[in-house]
Amino acid sequence: MHNIYLDNASTTKTYTEVLESFTKASIDYFANPASTHKLGLLSDELLTKARKQIAKYFQVKDNEVIFTSGATEGNNLAIKGVMYQNSSWGKKAITTKGEHPSVLKVFEELEQEGFSVTYLDYDKEGKLDLEQLKNSLDDKTSLVSIMAINNETGYIFPIEECYKITKRYSKAIFHTDATQAVGKEPIFFPYDLLSFSGHKIGGIKGSGALIKKSGVTLKSQILGGGQEFNLRSGTSSLPLDVSLATAIRLSFNSLESRRSNVLKIRDYLYSTLSEIEEVEIISPKNSSPFIFSFALKEHKGSVVMEALSNRGIYVSTRSACSSREKGYSYVIKNAGYDDIVASNAIRLSFTGNEDLEDIKIFVNELKDCLQILKKER
Ligand code: PMP
Repeated sequence: MHNIYLDNASTTKTYTEVLESFTKASIDYFANPASTHKLGLLSDELLTKARKQIAKYFQVKDNEVIFTSGATEGNNLAIKGVMYQNSSWGKKAITTKGEHPSVLKVFEELEQEGFSVTYLDYDKEGKLDLEQLKNSLDDKTSLVSIMAINNETGYIFPIEECYKITKRYSKAIFHTDATQAVGKEPIFFPYDLLSFSGHKIGGIKGSGALIKKSGVTLKSQILGGGQEFNLRSGTSSLPLDVSLATAIRLSFNSLESRRSNVLKIRDYLYSTLSEIEEVEIISPKNSSPFIFSFALKEHKGSVVMEALSNRGIYVSTRSACSSREKGYSYVIKNAGYDDIVASNAIRLSFTGNEDLEDIKIFVNELKDCLQILKKER
């Protein structure tokens, strides 16, 4: 039985060093950072240090880092925070049809409350309709939220261009869900708000941050003791915050080597999978090399996933958050694929630390599964 994990866009294995930093902070700095006695002050110093470290890697100011429980919370806070804060003048928002449910469901709720939302199109190459963005912006638009990298296909949306268009044609705040970009792409593009999760980069589940540039005012969604600059009340989880700083340091410092390894893996997958007749490759060549999506023309993704899982190879049918729901992938369908491709998609996702030999095993096992499934038909 193999043990080959290729589902890193869902979550990653936590780095040992991250766990060590979590444990050390839990034991040595257990006091509440808001307490004003000596132990509390020491905890607060460590919290400030963790925030500073993260700020350095994102090249932002210390007070622009807001700790959250992950991208879902960050996306909710960014979107609701902007829309409620500016509801007196700007009840319009723009996003894309390919966003994660933690963005789309928030917008759906806002629509029910009387806000209006435009959903941008994109095509099979992952090309976002920028003309539509430009034409949808007006003086009532208070938020544009566009993901940096799509979690099912790896599509890279042009954040810098979207930001520039947004600022040129409106006074809207620009938010990006960068969950699949942080630790995988250098974050050079401009933004006002950026959310991500720690557990996608070797961090602990339940850790994350929202980067909020100075000058952006959000309506807080959790009220209480006023922690995190009044934006996220509740006793700080110092161990999680410290562990996030460690995960950021480790993943940012290893970015180049992981990237060059994953590019080799991606090239190998393109050349070998395109030779298999039943395979239709979904991820275009210009997508993130950390996500590789393909469909099998005649077999349900869930059936192939299960067959591989029985052999100790772990892939995903689409985003883990929606893979238990029946039906097709809306992300793939909205790109212009038919229901069959959208229902049969399989996603491989990498940290960049994978061994090419394991990827070769995956390809051989996939071929073998396909032979067996063909006979069973
Ligand atoms: N956005 C994207 C693009 C994601 O891939 C995910 C995780 N699948 C999320 C948001 C939500 O992250 P979390 O579940 O860690 O809150």
